[in-house]
Formats: sequence, C-alpha cells, structure tokens
Amino acid sequence: LLRVRDLSTRFFTEEGQVNAVESVSFDVRDGEILGIVGESGSGKSVTALSLIDLVESPGEVTSGEVWYRNESLADEFGDAADGEFVDLQQLPPRVRRSLRGPSFSMIFQDPMSSFNPSITVGEQIAEAVEVQRRASANPRSTRSRTQGYGLGKFLLDGIVPNRDYTDPESHERAVELLDQVGIPDPEQRADEYPHQFSGGMLQRAMIAQALAGEPDVLIADEPTTALDVTIQAQILNLLRDLQEERNMSIVMITHDLGVIARMCDRVCVMYAGEVVERGTLADVFDRPTHPYTEGLLGSIP
Ligand code: ATP
Ligand code: MG
Repeated sequence: LLRVRDLSTRFFTEEGQVNAVESVSFDVRDGEILGIVGESGSGKSVTALSLIDLVESPGEVTSGEVWYRNESLADEFGDAADGEFVDLQQLPPRVRRSLRGPSFSMIFQDPMSSFNPSITVGEQIAEAVEVQRRASANPRSTRSRTQGYGLGKFLLDGIVPNRDYTDPESHERAVELLDQVGIPDPEQRADEYPHQFSGGMLQRAMIAQALAGEPDVLIADEPTTALDVTIQAQILNLLRDLQEERNMSIVMITHDLGVIARMCDRVCVMYAGEVVERGTLADVFDRPTHPYTEGLLGSIP
C-alpha cells in the first residue's frame, strides 16, 4: 500500500543540525497494523508526519521516496509511469503538495489538539466529512485531506471554522460516526463541546473525526498513552475492530511494547532516528538482533 524508502529529515536548532530521521525505510501493507516502537526522541513522530506530507513535514526532508498505490500516484503526477517510484524531492513543490495525504488520517495522544474548544464536536466532525467530500470530488485539489481533522486546520492551513459551513447531511454522517466509535447518545453528544467529553470519549470522538476522512491509512501517534488501562484497552479494541471493518491500515506509534504485542502484525523498532529492526512480531520479539531491542524486551517485567 505504502512504500517508504530512505526518508531523512533534519532540523536546524541553536545547537546545530539534528538528524531526526535518517534513511528510514518501511512498507505499510494493505489492511495491516504496523507498529513503530522506540524511545522518546527516536524519530517516530517526525517519521509519521513526514510520511503524510514531505513538504510540510516538521523538519527539512533531505531525501525520501514514497510509493503509494501506484495507480493514484501515476494519476497525480501525470508523467510518472505506472508502478514507478516517484522521488518526491524531484517534483516541483506544487505537485508534491497535491500528493499530500491521498487518504491519511492521524490521531494523537491528546484529543484536545484535534478539536477547537469553541465549536461543538458534531460540527467539527461534520466539517471533516465535508473536507473529505470536496477532496474526493476533486482529488487534484491542493487542499489536503488532512486539513479538516487530525493535524487540524489550525496547524496546517489556517482554515477558520465557520458554523454555517456544514449541511444537515454532513451532520447526520457525523452522528453516525460518533455512533460507530461507541459514543452513547451520539445525537445529543454531537451538540456538546469538547470539554464536555471525558478523556476516553473525546479520544473516541477524535477517532470519529479521523474516520470522516475515510483513510486508507490511519496513523495513531501514542493514541492511548494518556489514558488509564481500562480505557486504553477499549480504545485499542475499537481501533482493531475498525481496522477489520474498514480494512484500513494502521500505523501504530508507541513506546509501549504491550500495545505492540496486542495490536500489531509487524513492527519497526526505531532508535536514534533509524529503523534498527523490523519484522513480524515473532521475529522481533523472539529473535531481536539489535541491542536496543534486546534491552527493550528485557525491560518487560
Ligand atoms: P516521543 O516518543 O517523545 O514522542 P519521538 O520518537 O516521536 O519521541 P520525534 O518527535 O520524532 O521523536 O523527534 C525526533 C527528533 O527530532 C528528536 O531528537 C527531536 O528533538 C527532534 N525534533 C522533533 N521536532 C523538532 C523540532 N520542531 N525542532 C527541532 N527538533 C525537533
Ligand atoms: Mg512522538
């Protein structure tokens, strides 16, 4: 589904250059849950964000190739032949921009980061539904499908939410999505504001917002780290159910091996900006080859 090769990203800070991600390669297969595990600062989030958008990646992407469902890439680029790797660095910025997230959605540790506190949850999900609708009506639009949810209009495109924006149909769809993620009384909850939701419920709402984008790939960056264990288990189960129902792929970023063991088909271990190990769960858990992985596994009580 997705093939990432030699992705490198650097930052320039006061102390100098930081190579946050160095020559990272991995595949995301259709309908799988791929785990990315690694300690804090190992480059997991930067990798995920660069994957969605090499142009508006948080750092400077110095190399990288992404192959995403060859047919749609070929369409997007016109002259790129079917099945060819497209080197994103070689493409003019405008074209690369239109590539941004053909259908990625992203969820985070903190659901508040995905919602505007002064707009009802239902309205914001309905808005994501409309963004998706416009994007699929015009796939070449430079407006990204990530803009209405997850990363958020606030961070990416500065779209000002407008209460008159959504139509009743989108609202209905939003209620349906809230229902699908297990929110009781979705009709009523849709009219509430984010602060009226508990942490676990808002996490579910964020997932509904992400689903509004009808993602092929859902990137979950530490989605359950801030939740207590019971809620954590519920959210993980929900994600797995949704993955099965929709046959979407999930990239599950975490530092928690328990989450990996419970959820993932395959796993990449990142250390100091590099993928140091990758394979099936059994490969990595039973036959670790890198000292960091061995240490990580050794730390499980
Ligand atoms: P965590 O588990 O804490 O979320 P992570 O694996 O997601 O960690 P990243 O956020 O991807 O780590 O960061 C990788 C490296 O890039 C770190 O060394 C970090 O300091 C650096 N980095 C990330 N964002 C920036 C930024 N905006 N400016 C400068 N350096 C950054
Ligand atoms: Mg992170």
